[in-house]
Amino acid sequence: MQSYADFHQQSLSDRDAFWAEQAKRIDWETPPQQICDYSNPPFARWFVGGKTNICHNAVDRHAAQRPNDAALIAVSTETNTEKTYSFAELQREVERMAATLLDLGVQQGDRVLIYMPMIAEACFAMLACTRIGAIHSVVFGGFASGSLSTRIDDAQPKVIVSADGGSRGAKPVPYKPLLDEAINLAQHKPAAVLLIDRGLTPMNLVEGRDVLWGDMRAKHMDAQVPCVWLDSTAPSYTLYTSGTTGKPKGVQRDTGGYAVALATSIPYIYGGKPGETFFSTSDIGWVVGHSYIIYGPLLGGMATIMYEGLPTQGFDHQPDGGIWWRLVDKYKVSVMFSAPTAIRVLKKQDPAHLTKHDLSSLKALFLAGEPLDEPTAKWISDGLNGKPIIDNYWQTETGWPILGISNGIEGVEKNQPRFGSPGFPTYGYNVRLVDEATGLAVEGDDAKGVLVVEGPLPPGCLQTVWGDDKRFVSTYWNKMEDAATGEGRWVYSTYDWARRDADGYYFILGRTDDVINVAGHRLGTREIEESIAAHPNVAEAAVVGVADDVKGQVALAFVTAKSSEGLDTPEGIKKMEQEIMRQVDGDLGAVARPARVMIVTALPKTRSGKLLRRALQAVAEGRDPGDLTTIDDPSSLMAIKSMV
Ligand code: AMP
Repeated sequence: MQSYADFHQQSLSDRDAFWAEQAKRIDWETPPQQICDYSNPPFARWFVGGKTNICHNAVDRHAAQRPNDAALIAVSTETNTEKTYSFAELQREVERMAATLLDLGVQQGDRVLIYMPMIAEACFAMLACTRIGAIHSVVFGGFASGSLSTRIDDAQPKVIVSADGGSRGAKPVPYKPLLDEAINLAQHKPAAVLLIDRGLTPMNLVEGRDVLWGDMRAKHMDAQVPCVWLDSTAPSYTLYTSGTTGKPKGVQRDTGGYAVALATSIPYIYGGKPGETFFSTSDIGWVVGHSYIIYGPLLGGMATIMYEGLPTQGFDHQPDGGIWWRLVDKYKVSVMFSAPTAIRVLKKQDPAHLTKHDLSSLKALFLAGEPLDEPTAKWISDGLNGKPIIDNYWQTETGWPILGISNGIEGVEKNQPRFGSPGFPTYGYNVRLVDEATGLAVEGDDAKGVLVVEGPLPPGCLQTVWGDDKRFVSTYWNKMEDAATGEGRWVYSTYDWARRDADGYYFILGRTDDVINVAGHRLGTREIEESIAAHPNVAEAAVVGVADDVKGQVALAFVTAKSSEGLDTPEGIKKMEQEIMRQVDGDLGAVARPARVMIVTALPKTRSGKLLRRALQAVAEGRDPGDLTTIDDPSSLMAIKSMV
């Protein structure tokens, strides 16, 4: 039996041999000529010369061999519907959608923006794009028109696929009016908008632009659309994520590298097998949704559950804190993937929900997206009778785990998960901890530093930032001089602090930048500040993340007013606070809405005028703000302390 550490080391020292072996997991029309081209660092090109297609590998090849096996299980407790699509049925639906996109003028390399609730058609649309070589850009359905319009302008989609609306807690959530407003706001106009009419909320169709999926599907009922063989390095999709500037970054993924990385992760990290069922409770608008609702399970030949609904509401809109476990039982889920926040929500439910259903099919529960606190991990582990609870650490940029417990590698020793730690560097990732100031590696027991990955990043990670190679390099990469050889080595920064204990387990300590994590969703505080600053009476805004029992963190906004007029009564203050919340709702969506807005007379700054977010955060969390000598006006912080 090989140790995991040796296996990991081999994946780095014998990189090309390792990944050449993994590449056999997918079909290639033309096999790759070169495994990794790293001649232009930090840009890495994987499986160069190879031609493949993600949709072929996720759908068609399974449909050919196991046409009647379940592929997509679409469950909505919002609309009380459950439908299982076999691989053959999924292929037919994807071909209808692909034919529709072609009919609407989409060509290879064109972008298609998908703004959809968690319904089967969203999966058809994503797969239809990869089938014909169009680049999809899914925007989370909870985002409002402001966020959507900046993404439309950046992606410049030929077509947008959307729906009349979603539903939450049995209440319809209209999408179409937000989409229309976003298109109005955007400079770029799509040639067509394809709409799924779910009959949830009325829609006004724009003539000459809007078409209905029902009509197009009927028109292309018998369509046969072959998969287009694409260069391994051709972009498959972009997915926007927040950073420290207000402008979201389009993380760009390739074709062959992504397919190989995900196909490998299913057995190696998740222990999933063809014919089994994967249930990820995320949303297609996030990276977990891309990798582990849609592509990963299907590439691995598994069925995948797409769930629209709350974790605490079952069919017929009845309260049911056990709905997820009911689905695990019914569909014999073997691998489940969720976020710590969701488990903290379930913790408030009757624990009997966990024992009411037959969970014998479940091999492990994976949690990711934010720190997994020990009490939550213990609670769910006890509830699931000691089934492994496995923390994964990764980012939108990487597309699959950087740290984890690789559970299913034959001939390799299993590592035991440890509460509070996502485990060890995943095969293919050359992880280091470095000193933030010097950039030098921090070694030894209990080392602490910024978590970086030495290039090249393994397959499946971001190729670049969409349309902005310079931003890709300047945002993520640093060149380190190797003291021994004098050569430069490129390292990718995750912007996370981490600690490594004497046994090699890593622990994530928090972000090094102004990014916050609310319920597993990454939000840039600058984006929220920019939205708040657009309020006519806001002089300045500072947004910080503060600890929260359920969501991990929530955003708190501190605002100074241009004019104190109307702010002399509690009602006047409340009115402005509410206006600010509405402003953020309208620009970015409710996910970004601060939990509280506080109107203050001054914000703490250094003498050079730099906002002291960390001091604000400390005060808001009831901690010691530390050294106050650099603050220009310490009374501003004291005043804030008395308010929170
Ligand atoms: P996103 O790209 O939205 O998935 O956010 C990625 C960020 O979420 C990371 O950079 C971390 O700050 C945080 N994160 C993700 N997974 C974990 C985890 N398992 N433990 C702690 N933090 C995590």
